[in-house]
Amino acid sequence: MDTQTLPLTACAQVWNGGSEFRNLSVDLPTPAQGEALATIDLATICGSDIHTISGRRPGPHPGILGHEAVGRITSIGPGGVKDFRGRQLQPGDRVIWSVTVACGQCARCQAGVTVKCVELLKTGHEPLDGGWGLSGGYSSHIHLRRGITMVSVPETVSDAAAAPVACATATVMAVMEAAGALAAKRVLISGAGMLGIVACAVAQHRGASAVHVRDINPERLALAREFGATDAAAPNADRPGLAVDIAVDVSGAAQAVESAFASLDIKGRMVLAGSVSPGPAVLLDPERMVRSLLTVTGVHNYEPKHLQEAMDFVHETRDTYQWGVLVEEPCALAELPFLMQPPTGRSLRKSVTPNAGTIRRTS
Ligand SMILES: [Zn+2]
Ligand SMILES: [Zn+2]
Repeated sequence: MDTQTLPLTACAQVWNGGSEFRNLSVDLPTPAQGEALATIDLATICGSDIHTISGRRPGPHPGILGHEAVGRITSIGPGGVKDFRGRQLQPGDRVIWSVTVACGQCARCQAGVTVKCVELLKTGHEPLDGGWGLSGGYSSHIHLRRGITMVSVPETVSDAAAAPVACATATVMAVMEAAGALAAKRVLISGAGMLGIVACAVAQHRGASAVHVRDINPERLALAREFGATDAAAPNADRPGLAVDIAVDVSGAAQAVESAFASLDIKGRMVLAGSVSPGPAVLLDPERMVRSLLTVTGVHNYEPKHLQEAMDFVHETRDTYQWGVLVEEPCALAELPFLMQPPTGRSLRKSVTPNAGTIRRTS
């Protein structure tokens, strides 16, 4: 884009609390050192935003939500900005960016746990009147702060395939790292939403010998089969004898967690990632944990390397898995308030094109 024609304001859907949204013009900041501005081509609506407006997850407001998006750099602050691989970015370059923005200096950042930085900021989760007003994806533009991770998007990856990478796919990369090697392992995935479907694909791609998926929704179970599940069934269909090496919970349902724990074979490993809002406690029998040599671990969000790994995975598997089918045809940004409800059928994400006319949807 010619810098002469850059607009001065962004057009955003600002969340006012509850289910109230307002269309607002927001002044575009001048990017400081290490920062950039980007236009947003497609933003997908993650389930956690729906939790936020339903009150199940606290969120500052007024503010711009949205943390799964893909767009193009429009302007860059002094000194330039680089993508995760160290490539200098230029205006027009297509990128996705991380959910978390870390300081890089605190003890947690220094220990490699940037996801729990003591000064953590989160994309699409900051107040409009704070230091990072244009933080979310439901806007024509986003301010890419210093400390955010940017990953270049190959032109062969569609917007619909790229946008969910920034939350769902990257989180699954962190989950599967915690799960360990998958080759020849029996894997159970509880929950066939976006994370569960991605987890199926990763398990199949990395050579799992069996990929069992449990969900109550038959259409999602059918999707799971298309994305690598070898056995997809309702939770109550579990045979008492199901034994797995790795159990991944992305459902957050207490019963699913208990049932997955019960399925772990000797040396089994369970990774919990779905329990992101308060719920009932679950019973994990410590004697069984000791005698069966079990490991239970939790994963929340992801580190910068997982964002790159997730983009690479979607790129490498673009001919194997129809990533684009998981996202509904996009709507205009003004429709956002009507889209903030769980998707139905085969769709796992609703989406908006904040700059309609620049849609890039090739699969
Ligand atoms: Zn999310
Ligand atoms: Zn930090």
